[in-house]
Amino acid sequence: MSKDSVRPARRRQSRISMRAIAVITLALCSFVINAAAHAAEPGKDAGAATNLPRVLVLATGGTIAGQAESRATGAYKSGQITGEQLVQSVPGLDKLAKLSAEQISSIGSQDMNDKVWFALAHRIQQAFDNNEADGVVVTHGTDTLEETTFFLDNVLKGDKPVVIVGSMRPATAVSADGPGNLYEAVQVAADPRSRGRGVMAVLNDKIEGARLVTKTNTTSIETFNSPNGGPIGYVDTAGGIRFMAQASGLKRATYDLPANEPLPRVEIVYSHANMDAVPIEDAISHGAKGIVLAGVGDGNTSKQALDALEQAAKKGIIVVRSTRVRSGFVTRNVEVDDDRYGFVVSEDLSPQKARVLTQLLIANGVTAPAKLQQAFTATW
Ligand code: GLU
Repeated sequence: MSKDSVRPARRRQSRISMRAIAVITLALCSFVINAAAHAAEPGKDAGAATNLPRVLVLATGGTIAGQAESRATGAYKSGQITGEQLVQSVPGLDKLAKLSAEQISSIGSQDMNDKVWFALAHRIQQAFDNNEADGVVVTHGTDTLEETTFFLDNVLKGDKPVVIVGSMRPATAVSADGPGNLYEAVQVAADPRSRGRGVMAVLNDKIEGARLVTKTNTTSIETFNSPNGGPIGYVDTAGGIRFMAQASGLKRATYDLPANEPLPRVEIVYSHANMDAVPIEDAISHGAKGIVLAGVGDGNTSKQALDALEQAAKKGIIVVRSTRVRSGFVTRNVEVDDDRYGFVVSEDLSPQKARVLTQLLIANGVTAPAKLQQAFTATW
């Protein structure tokens, strides 16, 4: 075959190739344009849009992940459903944020412990430091939700939103509150206005601050309140987010986590009529580095108990007077001479939160009474 007889065939081939390339290019262009238009269409496949805020969901267990064998009895087991399943089960969540979920633990929060706290704190800080997330949601049992909220608030650095969420009814309940609470928690975590407000708890349409929030009812869905100040904001699907004030912008003190858990041993001693020294002596003999008094009234207790606390303070154990009363402040040097005894007062911190702060202060080497008192005094 001559060279000439080959050439026309080549030209034909190259014309066909050119046409094929043009057709493929056109098809690709129209696919890209369609895909972009589709993703930009509000409410349609918004999960695929890359400009949604990134929210990392860290699951720890709790009733929000609880399941009952039968709807007829009230009995259920907490921590049965994974974070991934929880996220998948809430319609519309993918329109709010680009979500990822990780399982930190699967426990009822009555079993919450330093190991889980450290794992949470490290993972959240890492996610923010590496710019992996714009906000974090932690799913949690409600029993100790306020302690985890306060702990994280005291150790996390930066201003990105962290929201702790739980529910009072398990996922299988007739009117489960978990899905709505999780939706609202993601709303808050994804919103730039939530920056600089510390760690927040979101349940039942309210946004509560870490310092004041507490569980006030054993079973009702209207249980989380902030008796000394009220919620810092409100959230609902229709109305969106309404914060009651500007973010304070104040840089709160944050404390370093020790290299390893556990945190120093700090006991809570509950005061009551007919109180003797035994619970305080027990705490001392079990190696407590600090004792928080859940005192009567303004953080008070019996003469016997006070004498035992004085002995504890003389041994270098940190003594913090808090109160078993749900609201109000514990004030220095009113009925108890704190200056003489070397005691600290918890101000508005409940015994369970005063315990967490005392642990962090001891772990950070803060032991002088004046410095301790400064750390307990509210900063707003
Ligand atoms: N005790 C369980 C817990 O704290 C159930 C309470 C709840 O989550 O509402 O995880």
